[in-house]
Amino acid sequence: MIQVIWYKRDLRVRDHAPLFHATQSGSVLPLYILEPFLFEKDVFSKRHLQFIIESLEDLKRSLASIHLPLYIYIGDVIEIFDQIYHHYGPFQLHSHMEHGTNLTYERDLSIKKWTDNKNILWTEYKTFGVNRAKGFKFRLRDFHGWLKEGVIPVPKDPTAFKDEHHIFMHTISDMHHIQIQGDVVSFFKGGESEGIKRAKAFFNQRYKKYQVYINKPSLSIHSSSLLSPYLAFGNLSIRMLHLSTQKHLKDIQDPFLKDQLEAFEKRLYWHCHFIQRVERHPELNEVAWDKKLEGLRVTNQVYLTAFKEGKTGFPIIDACMRALQLRGWINFKQRAMIASFASNVLLLDWRDVGFVLGSYFIDYEPGIHWSQIQMQAGLNPYRHVPMYDIIKQSLMHDKDATFIHEMIPELKHIQTPDVFTPWELKDNPYMNPIIDLKTSFESSKTLLYQKKKQKKQDHNLFGEDL
Ligand SMILES: Cc1cc2nc3c(=O)[nH]c(=O)nc-3n(C[C@H](O)[C@H](O)[C@H](O)COP(=O)(O)OP(=O)(O)OC[C@H]3O[C@@H](n4cnc5c(N)ncnc54)[C@H](O)[C@@H]3O)c2cc1C
Repeated sequence: MIQVIWYKRDLRVRDHAPLFHATQSGSVLPLYILEPFLFEKDVFSKRHLQFIIESLEDLKRSLASIHLPLYIYIGDVIEIFDQIYHHYGPFQLHSHMEHGTNLTYERDLSIKKWTDNKNILWTEYKTFGVNRAKGFKFRLRDFHGWLKEGVIPVPKDPTAFKDEHHIFMHTISDMHHIQIQGDVVSFFKGGESEGIKRAKAFFNQRYKKYQVYINKPSLSIHSSSLLSPYLAFGNLSIRMLHLSTQKHLKDIQDPFLKDQLEAFEKRLYWHCHFIQRVERHPELNEVAWDKKLEGLRVTNQVYLTAFKEGKTGFPIIDACMRALQLRGWINFKQRAMIASFASNVLLLDWRDVGFVLGSYFIDYEPGIHWSQIQMQAGLNPYRHVPMYDIIKQSLMHDKDATFIHEMIPELKHIQTPDVFTPWELKDNPYMNPIIDLKTSFESSKTLLYQKKKQKKQDHNLFGEDL
């Protein structure tokens, strides 16, 4: 029987359970389906599509090296499954579990209905350290067991499916014609080979200042792993990355260097912890975790556009947004600051903030992204509303203004500390700020803090402390 491998956000051959198991049972049809509805409704933009295209080109080469083709379909999943069924009869379906918002969750429910109707066996394999059946309680125990199972080998000599009825007419190049918003970024190139190259560079050298530079906008780009997009599109398996980190940790003697890599390993654990949330609550991008602050923020479109375009008049905020436009990446600390500024000072609706940022972040991962957006908007019922003093943040993390000067050349001739508050100069050499920072900061803070202090009225989204 034909074994269909449905590739989604798992664009690799190494440690790939669907690929391995499919090849044990029959002729193999590796298939990537580009679903236009995701590009219309989700945060995806041109940069994500470009990353996917590059990943598919790399995947095609890797599959060819084990004599397998890669089939492409642009359209609806059930449409192409129907065609396979019609022309070739029943098949078995293999895929990794997808942990996304309702968009992909509801799509998966309809696929399940279709496979049940047709009596087709659909096996979904574990993708991350996320527990589908039992949730948070068993997550870590289960994850450690999964790590211990080790890396799944790339199959040897599989039997390839041949499309004798010519139902697959699309190619990877056809994807370039899809009309979607946004720009491409050249800073990241998609693909498993590139992911492995970057992981090696990290373990060889970059990690040595991981913790030291982690919050610095101009330095973390040289010391963070930058592996997030490769995890988000599955060019790298989280299990392989954990196991490699553990192996490198064993070889490191220097306590300082060990600390650096241990800090990285800790963050790898956060990855799956956050994704577990969206597995349980696929409405995480729509429904507030704690509803107390709902209704207080109504998006002002002028502010939203200024934020999106990096034209708020606040150098550190604009520098972050311009870095995102340019590279698709900034570090955690700056992400937290801009998300909090937009939601808690400009009082933009957190969903709009999440949408804008998600379309820029090349590593958009629904579970991490929407959890963080909600946390930075003060919607974690067990934490305060984070209010960052953006001037202090500039002084702490970009004290020589290297980052601001790099991203905002108009300010190159303005020295520190003036460059952090150019509106206070007699002749502001930069654009005027869209708000009065002090007044807005204080009034927004009072509003949000007062509401936050009120007693819980509704059950929160999770109903438990996470
Ligand atoms: C508002 C906001 C939105 C975010 N959206 C995303 C997103 O869409 N996708 C995404 O991968 N990360 C997101 N993050 C988390 C974090 O900023 C990025 O994972 C990190 O900056 C990626 O860079 P890196 O690969 O060099 O990370 P490293 O510091 O090298 O860490 C290694 C890996 O650990 C994981 N990790 C690191 N920090 C976190 C964290 N705080 N939470 C969960 N996992 C983490 C990531 O998979 C990362 O690739 C977001 C953070 C905030 C504040």
